[in-house]
Amino acid sequence: MRIAGRITGEAILAGAEMIRPGVSTKAIDEKIRHTIEKAGAKPSFLGYGGFPGSACISVNEQVIHGIPSYHRILEEGDIVKLDVGAYIDGFHGDSANTFPVGKISEEAQKLIDVTRESFFRGLEAAGKEGARVGDIGAAVDGYVTSFGCTTVKKYVGHGVGADLHEDPNVPNFGRPGHGPKLCRGMVIAIEPMINLGRPEVRELSDGWTVVTADGSLSAHYEHTVALTENGPEMLTKVD
Ligand code: MG
Ligand code: MG
Repeated sequence: MRIAGRITGEAILAGAEMIRPGVSTKAIDEKIRHTIEKAGAKPSFLGYGGFPGSACISVNEQVIHGIPSYHRILEEGDIVKLDVGAYIDGFHGDSANTFPVGKISEEAQKLIDVTRESFFRGLEAAGKEGARVGDIGAAVDGYVTSFGCTTVKKYVGHGVGADLHEDPNVPNFGRPGHGPKLCRGMVIAIEPMINLGRPEVRELSDGWTVVTADGSLSAHYEHTVALTENGPEMLTKVD
């Protein structure tokens, strides 16, 4: 899983290097696919449930599951989410990050920063002795709401392993001390999806793209995390 994780992280970095105004989300997707395949892995998302891209690339009010397209050209001021999975030797990695396109607004930067930090609050909660899944969500949600941001409830983190999505669900909200117990040896994706406006989302008619219901900006930050005897280890973090 470390190998799958490293390839996943490197593919996100390769895609991120291409981000600038004028680039299509499909061009970024192709770079991610080449990076994964050159490493001897397969893109986990390609064909998953019929998904047509190698990565989910979601812009601005798009929360997750954005379909890469030659017609979606990044513009100065956009924020773009790259969500990537790589499969090798029977295991998956899963990771996402949000990047600025050129110069972005102060509130967009705040959203990116708050989302990223909320992941690390969740990670810290996961590493505590006797922690439960609800501790992660409570830490994430408590942090982002203190900045006036909101947590997407409809989509959640998950276990990762031989399947891309495994038990348990890892919501980004919850009650401390509740939910399944976190045990050594588990591997989970912690992935806050955070909105500047209201938390509700809806799916577009393409059957994939999830957007904020109120059109506000959304950010995403995810790592595949192994719960080891030395504490949580981020398998997809390479930068
Ligand atoms: Mg993901
Ligand atoms: Mg995930």
